[in-house]
Amino acid sequence: MSNVMFFNIPAHGHVNPTIAVVTELVKRGHRVRYYSVEEFQGKIENAGAEFVDIAPYMPPAPDNLDKKVGKDFAALIEMVVDTTFALSDIMEAEIKEFQPDCIVSDSVCFWGKLFAGKYNIHFICSTTTMAFNQYTARLMKQGLGEIVRMFTGMPRIQAKMKLLNENGYPAENFVSIIQNDNETNTIVYTSRKFQPMVETFSDRYVFVGPSVANIYPRGEKKERPQVYISLGTVLNNNVAFYKECIDALKDMECNVVISAGRNTDIGALGEIPDSFTVEPYVNQLEVLADSDVFVTHCGMNSVTESLYNGVPMVLFPQHSEENAVAIRTEELGAGVRLKKGKTKLIRKAVEEVLSNEKYRKVAQEIGDDFRQCGGAVMAAQFIERVIG
Ligand code: UDP
Repeated sequence: MSNVMFFNIPAHGHVNPTIAVVTELVKRGHRVRYYSVEEFQGKIENAGAEFVDIAPYMPPAPDNLDKKVGKDFAALIEMVVDTTFALSDIMEAEIKEFQPDCIVSDSVCFWGKLFAGKYNIHFICSTTTMAFNQYTARLMKQGLGEIVRMFTGMPRIQAKMKLLNENGYPAENFVSIIQNDNETNTIVYTSRKFQPMVETFSDRYVFVGPSVANIYPRGEKKERPQVYISLGTVLNNNVAFYKECIDALKDMECNVVISAGRNTDIGALGEIPDSFTVEPYVNQLEVLADSDVFVTHCGMNSVTESLYNGVPMVLFPQHSEENAVAIRTEELGAGVRLKKGKTKLIRKAVEEVLSNEKYRKVAQEIGDDFRQCGGAVMAAQFIERVIG
């Protein structure tokens, strides 16, 4: 029996795929302790892990976080380092008491990697996005603004790196924190087929396929196709886009479900046509089971769940990581990209995907491929191998 620590950021898209792995580890007799926040306590404890609430120790979220996500690099590094220091006392005590054999930390929960380095504990990266190395990172296609912000933020980044090194965290440079090399043991929740440039990854990368929580049976074929629209759970407060969608699809022969986000003022959308259902949050897997096209922000989980359900997509990425997912999905033929969230373009893209069977066929093929992957059992076996 081994002791395994899990670290994650408080985002459903990042936590959800790890839950099946935790369940499997516990089933195999291991002890798992998961560091997260209250919102996820139920899920984590139901999977059989011990839950530790880190919210009381976390530094306050930076101002304008929603505008910085995936865009302001220096702000990201500052947040990572500040969080690491804020957690350092409690983690030192926890590590001493729990004696972990291994730390599994999400690919953007960088402090897990920093603690593993400092205390010399086996580290496994858990990647709910596609895997990024020096080759695939180029696919993210940063915008000019992002690049400029990165360069102007360099002095801030260097200052934080120095602070890490002075406090025993082995961080060569910021790239070594945010990017994995071929020496890092990594669990990737997608298939080899979906991963771009899969040949550039070593056998320390295990592609276990998505861990999709609930699959709902596909409903009866309806007379009118169903369009599902969601920008995910983070950057979803986009009233202008939802209004464009309403304009684009109100006269089309289809039913539309919009998940507008918990912080979006649905009243600000104006009159909602009868063919539309607009909710702050939906059971996405259930809605996808009945959908014919998904207009998505290209969060990795949303795209994966769509493919798992054989639903082709209109791809509307909001930042560089989502851009990489959109490019791959389009390249494989499971959707079309929306250049701008404007009425005419939305309508054209939705019509294209609905009228052309080839997109659905590819989505179904990729979904079938996902189901052939080794899943949580393979991930648990990999963790056991790393611990040795
Ligand atoms: N989700 C959901 N209902 C909603 C919106 C999202 O259940 O109304 C779930 C969705 O199924 C997915 C996750 O939230 O598992 C979103 O993750 P993703 O990586 O797509 O995007 P993020 O929210 O992290 O930007």
